[in-house]
Amino acid sequence: MTESSFRRVALIGIGLIGSSLARALRRDCPDTEIIACARRAETLDAVRRLAVADATTNDAAQAAADADLVVVATPLSAYTEIGERIAPVLKAGAIVTDVGSVKEAVIRDLQPHIPASVQFVPGHPVAGTEHSGPEAGFAELFRDRWCILTPSPGTAPEAVAAVGRMWQQCGMRVVTMSADHHDKVLAMTSHLPHLIAYTIVGTATNLEESLKSEVIEFSASGFRDFTRIAASDPVMWRDIFLNNREAVLEIVQRFTEDLTALQRAIRWGEGDKLQELFTRTRAIRRSIIEAKQA
Ligand code: NAP
Repeated sequence: MTESSFRRVALIGIGLIGSSLARALRRDCPDTEIIACARRAETLDAVRRLAVADATTNDAAQAAADADLVVVATPLSAYTEIGERIAPVLKAGAIVTDVGSVKEAVIRDLQPHIPASVQFVPGHPVAGTEHSGPEAGFAELFRDRWCILTPSPGTAPEAVAAVGRMWQQCGMRVVTMSADHHDKVLAMTSHLPHLIAYTIVGTATNLEESLKSEVIEFSASGFRDFTRIAASDPVMWRDIFLNNREAVLEIVQRFTEDLTALQRAIRWGEGDKLQELFTRTRAIRRSIIEAKQA
């Protein structure tokens, strides 16, 4: 058990990420009071059933009032509305953070609403599954994963440290970088792979009926892995692509060029080129396993 820097934490959005954080706080900082906010009664019923919060509300302002830490954990498209709603009630000295998968857009949407007496520390725990909702959460989700914080240069270092400590208590390794850099890195490591998975599964879906049923029946492990990724939450991923447009389009362009080069190597029977690339990519997989990020 560890002492938390925060007496009262408001979780605006209590799905996979919000409820996993609630569970980790419950386990490690039982003195911290947790207020959970979501729009739908069924979400709040599940939160009460799972007992991962001390109180529930469908009003973000009610959750944020008197909170020492406000964690926004909704899809990105809700951020502006939430910023407008909580701005008048945030208490002086409070910290607002978030878990959104894109950071420049979050700063664009939330920062203008944050009063001068409140610190804003954008964050992204790089951990997840393809499941959504409060039932999908688990305290160990964050263990040994990276949490990226993207505070602006003017942010109080104590606020950045306090948010970082919370994620470390959840088992995460914490790193700070610019929002712009974060968005470029994640476009490559997360957003492009999801786009490819959505495309492959979409292509299979578009195949004529007979072939489609065989695709499902004889689903080899390669395709199966893609279907898992392509089962990720549609709203969350719509928001990610719309909000990281430039970085994603840039990386898709690079990917398309590389794919064309591979296509050419196959057409011209250039086996050495294919083998050389596959040898390099195998080495990358090994280094990811060594870094315990597999
Ligand atoms: P999720 O499981 O779908 O949960 C979203 C939560 O937000 C639900 O509790 C939902 O409940 C609530 N919500 C939606 N709109 C709201 C609003 N306007 N006001 C209050 N609550 C609202 O999503 P998630 O996977 O936890 O993702 C949440 C955030 O984490 C996203 O920004 C995503 O980019 C980021 N993230 C996700 C992953 C991942 O792998 N899933 C990893 C890292 C970061 P109601 O529908 O009842 O309102």
